[in-house]
Amino acid sequence: MVDLKGQYIKIKEEVDKGIKEVIENTAFINGPAVKEFQADLEKYLNVKHVIPCANGTDALQIAMMALDLKPGDEVITANFTYVATAEVIGILGLTPVLVDVYPDTFTIDVAAIEKAITPKTKAIVPIHLYGQCAEMEAIMELSKKHNLYVIEDVAQAIGADYTMADGIKRKAGTIGNIGCTSFFPSKNLGCYGDGGAIYTNDDELAKKLKMIAHHGQSVQYVHDVLGVNSRLDTIQAAVLKVKLKQLDNYTTARIKAAAHYDSKLGTNPKVKIPVRVKNSTHVFHQYTLQLVGVDRNKLREFLQERGIPSMIYYPIPLHMQNAYKSDRYKAGDFPVTEKLCASVISLPMHTELDQETLNYITDNVLEFLNKS
Ligand SMILES: *Cc1c(COP(=O)(O)O)cnc(C)c1O
Repeated sequence: MVDLKGQYIKIKEEVDKGIKEVIENTAFINGPAVKEFQADLEKYLNVKHVIPCANGTDALQIAMMALDLKPGDEVITANFTYVATAEVIGILGLTPVLVDVYPDTFTIDVAAIEKAITPKTKAIVPIHLYGQCAEMEAIMELSKKHNLYVIEDVAQAIGADYTMADGIKRKAGTIGNIGCTSFFPSKNLGCYGDGGAIYTNDDELAKKLKMIAHHGQSVQYVHDVLGVNSRLDTIQAAVLKVKLKQLDNYTTARIKAAAHYDSKLGTNPKVKIPVRVKNSTHVFHQYTLQLVGVDRNKLREFLQERGIPSMIYYPIPLHMQNAYKSDRYKAGDFPVTEKLCASVISLPMHTELDQETLNYITDNVLEFLNKS
């Protein structure tokens, strides 16, 4: 699904030098590269504060800890997503309130959010799934109307732009109160291990987020709030510093691959290509098709036999997972999510897809569709 080796070869010299420097200076924890990467990312995102941390799941947990939510408070999030978002809500004793997504863009359904709001609702966590923003303008309006926090899960959409109604373009994750991202190796900006970051434009929140990520500590050995230990390794920061400079090129390569898939598959009635959110750019963390009357397992087998990987993001809705089952929900409550879980398939998507490979992939997908 990804070609991290091919990507590495092109930046090897610079990456190796950065890693070697960290080792030679033995600056493994909070070394200079962490601060430098933080400043570079703040500039890239045009956001006041970036707080690096250990991974994207920690970023979400720290964000929710900083908002002083109480057990039983409700947090609304999408049902059709990776588990991390609902997981941290549960870990903190908050109540995850799942809502459906749009059938064409896969992002959280704003009308469904509004319907789910109760006096206990404290926050909304939209996920910018597969690389494009949820309907942030409408979500921000709702949050103002009901006095709710917005935490953006931007793990799949770093670098995406969203144009607000006033015409101002903002980077995904810098629109709500807090943005949370992941540098997991296969993400659009991936390091060579685990990593994550939290963004905010709010000075007070930034102080708190930093403190929580650092054992709740303001001054060394003075602990003001309950915290965790969540740091970005210096070696990972050194890698990210190099890769951040390439991020826009990486995005361009992904968009090019997506355009190829669109052009070859867009008119075939057996697949639906991904629909773009109106005011968002798409950075294509995934290129995800919906199959129409096609046996997904047989397609996957067919592709696998020809050396083409494919993935199902995500096969089981959260409300059907043992860990998240609740009296609130039953099968059939989330018709869109349930249908998508049964019909989506993601094709290889990364920065190193050349024309020959793309042709080979779409030729084979079309061969299968035409005979099925
Ligand atoms: C990857 C991902 C996360 C979690 O990131 P980790 O760094 O693996 O903890 C959270 N949310 C979404 C939507 C993701 O894709």
